[in-house]
Amino acid sequence: MADSITVTSPLLPPLEEFTPYLQRIWDSKRLTNGGPFHEQLERELAEYLGVQHLSLFSNGTLALVTALQALRITGEVITTPYSFVATSHSLLWNNLKPVFVDIDPVTKNLDPRRIAEAITPATSAILPVHCYGVPCDVEGIQAVADTYGLKVIYDAAHAFGVRHNGASILNNGDLSILSFHATKVFNTFEGGAIICRDEKIKQRIDYLKNFGFADEVTVMAPGINGKMNELQAAFGVLQLRYIDEALSRRQKVFEYYRSALEGIPGISLLEQPQGLDWNYAYCPILVDGERFGVSRDELYDRYRAENILVRRYFYPLICEFPMYRGLPSSDLSQLGNAYNVSRQVLCLPIYPDLDPQTQAKIIEVLMRAQAA
Ligand SMILES: *Cc1c(COP(=O)(O)O)cnc(C)c1O
Repeated sequence: MADSITVTSPLLPPLEEFTPYLQRIWDSKRLTNGGPFHEQLERELAEYLGVQHLSLFSNGTLALVTALQALRITGEVITTPYSFVATSHSLLWNNLKPVFVDIDPVTKNLDPRRIAEAITPATSAILPVHCYGVPCDVEGIQAVADTYGLKVIYDAAHAFGVRHNGASILNNGDLSILSFHATKVFNTFEGGAIICRDEKIKQRIDYLKNFGFADEVTVMAPGINGKMNELQAAFGVLQLRYIDEALSRRQKVFEYYRSALEGIPGISLLEQPQGLDWNYAYCPILVDGERFGVSRDELYDRYRAENILVRRYFYPLICEFPMYRGLPSSDLSQLGNAYNVSRQVLCLPIYPDLDPQTQAKIIEVLMRAQAA
């Protein structure tokens, strides 16, 4: 569709600024396997994000799959049904059993008060998601993990650059994973990373993403090919120069939505906790059809009719997909908060270049739906 308004649009630096990077790759003939741009991006991202160790990946899903391998997770893993399907798929790819636990209706994240009752002798880890970049109750989750001796791996695919009370939320748990997919706040076309605080684990992760090679003749594990190449890494280095500007433009877009939509009966916006430096990755609203007068799906259809491609992130829940439906923990009656949110959520377009006129048009569709 020619002039449709999409829910996101990738951050792209001026093309001519990328040409010198390409020239350097052509001159060095280093295309991948930990080349100079790869090393530079690992260093600069760790510094920018305020984390100790970071290992780049070709995408976020391979980072997730490898993170579970790196910590030798076995048996059952407690996770959220309210996420992108890659979160749970990473468990199936490791032959692990997902155990779905309900979310907190405010944060939309795994509710630590519900985790303990789902733990069995086979449980070895918790895989929460900082949904929309809003932090999980990291203290509550860590307390349960410490009590039961569980590892915690955060799917932080939405949480690039998010800080809470001045500290990066990526330093919680044992590992965090990021996605640099084109649709995310910071992109390398495709890409991802694992963040950790232990140099030995970082070493193991780096072996695992390179077939398990520790040196030329030593293979220490059945590793995978998860390496980020030099084109992706060079793009990331350039992209990083523009990220602060992009984040502040996202914030302006979000504030405009907030001022326009706050107080409309039946529409609620995401609540941000005190002390949060958020990345404005998404603009989800919840549509209470009874109070708003028009259901979420009706509003969705009206947007589609105007060629405004709003998205229902996350609907359906992961546990509703065929490969998860049969699990004992997929019982929707036990996942009431996640179920309700998935039936009310609508993500509005948000990206750095979204201009105020277009945004006004997006807001107007909602206003007209209410009036009708
Ligand atoms: C995007 C995303 C992923 C997958 O990342 P890719 O880089 O696309 O493989 C995983 N989890 C969540 C929550 C995501 O949004």
